Amino acid sequence: MSWSWRNLIRLRPYFRIHFCSKVGNGANTFMWYDDWHSLGALSYVLSPREIASAGFRISDKVKDVISDISWFWPAEWLLIIPQLNDYQLPKLDPLVADKVLWRERNGQKVEFDIQHVWKDLSNYDQKVPWVHIVWFKQCIPRLSFILWLAIQERLTTQDRMRFWDKNKNLKCSLCNIQPDSHSHLFFECNYSSLVWKVVKDKVGIKSNSHGWKELIEELQVLFKGKSIQIFIMKIAFAAAVYFIWRERNCRLFRKGKTDEMKIALNIFEEIRLKLIGLKGEFLGFDNDVKTKWGVPVGKKNHDFFNDQRN
Ligand SMILES: [Zn+2]
Repeated sequence: MSWSWRNLIRLRPYFRIHFCSKVGNGANTFMWYDDWHSLGALSYVLSPREIASAGFRISDKVKDVISDISWFWPAEWLLIIPQLNDYQLPKLDPLVADKVLWRERNGQKVEFDIQHVWKDLSNYDQKVPWVHIVWFKQCIPRLSFILWLAIQERLTTQDRMRFWDKNKNLKCSLCNIQPDSHSHLFFECNYSSLVWKVVKDKVGIKSNSHGWKELIEELQVLFKGKSIQIFIMKIAFAAAVYFIWRERNCRLFRKGKTDEMKIALNIFEEIRLKLIGLKGEFLGFDNDVKTKWGVPVGKKNHDFFNDQRN
C-alpha cells in the first residue's frame, strides 16, 4: 500500500464517529455495527458472543431484528445497559431507503456534503482531558463504554430518577442507606468503597480523593505513561466501575447478590485474561508481573492462546 493510502486508512477511526444511519426500511443498516442508536454502534457495548447467545446473527440488518415497535431488547442486556431503552425504536417504512448522515462536532445530524464536512473538521477541537483514562490501545470496549458514560455522569442513577419520580423512596441497592448517585457508587458507598480499596491496593493506585469528579482529576495525572503498570491500573479502574454498576443493577432487578470480595476477584480475573491476550511488547511486562497476575511465564502470549485452542 502507498504511504498516502495507509494514512487515509489510519484516519478511519476519527471519521467513523461522524457517520450515522437514519433508518428507513432497515434493509441497508447493520444492526450491530452501524451507528443508528443514540448509544452509537451497538458492537461497542455488546460482544459478538452476547449477540449470538441471544439468538441473533452478527450480519443482521435492522429489519432482520426489529420487526415492529413492539419488539423488546433482551432483558439480560437491559440489566447492564439500561440506556438501550432511552432511544425509541425506529418505525420501519418499506418505502423509504436507509440513509447515511454526517454527525457534526456539535452532535447535529446533516446530509453529507464534502464542503460542509471540511468546514466542520477544520480546527478540530482539543480532546477532553480524561480521554486517555477511558480509550486507550487494547482497552476493553465493554468496560470503557460504561466508564465513558459514568465520567460524563450519564448513567441512570437514582438521584437523576428522583427528578421525575419524587414520590419513590429510593435506596442504593448496594448499601440500602441513601439514593445512589455517581459519587455514591464510585466509590463513597460502603460496599463499593471496599471493592475499590481492595482493587487499588492490588494494582498500586495511590489515591485518597473524595468524590467522583475529584477522583477523575487525580487519575488523569496518575494514568500517564505506557508501562504495563499504568495499563493494569486503567483496566482495573474501568473494570471496578463496570462490575459495581452491574452489581447495582443486578440487585435492583433482584437477580441475586455478590459480595465485595467476589466482585474484586471478578475484576482481577478480567485483568488476568486481558494480560494473557495482550498483543505486542509492553514496557515492564516481566516475569514478576506475569507471576503476580497468573499469566504463564516464558511463552509469548499468543502461543499460550494457540495452546488453549488446540
Ligand atoms: Zn450505597
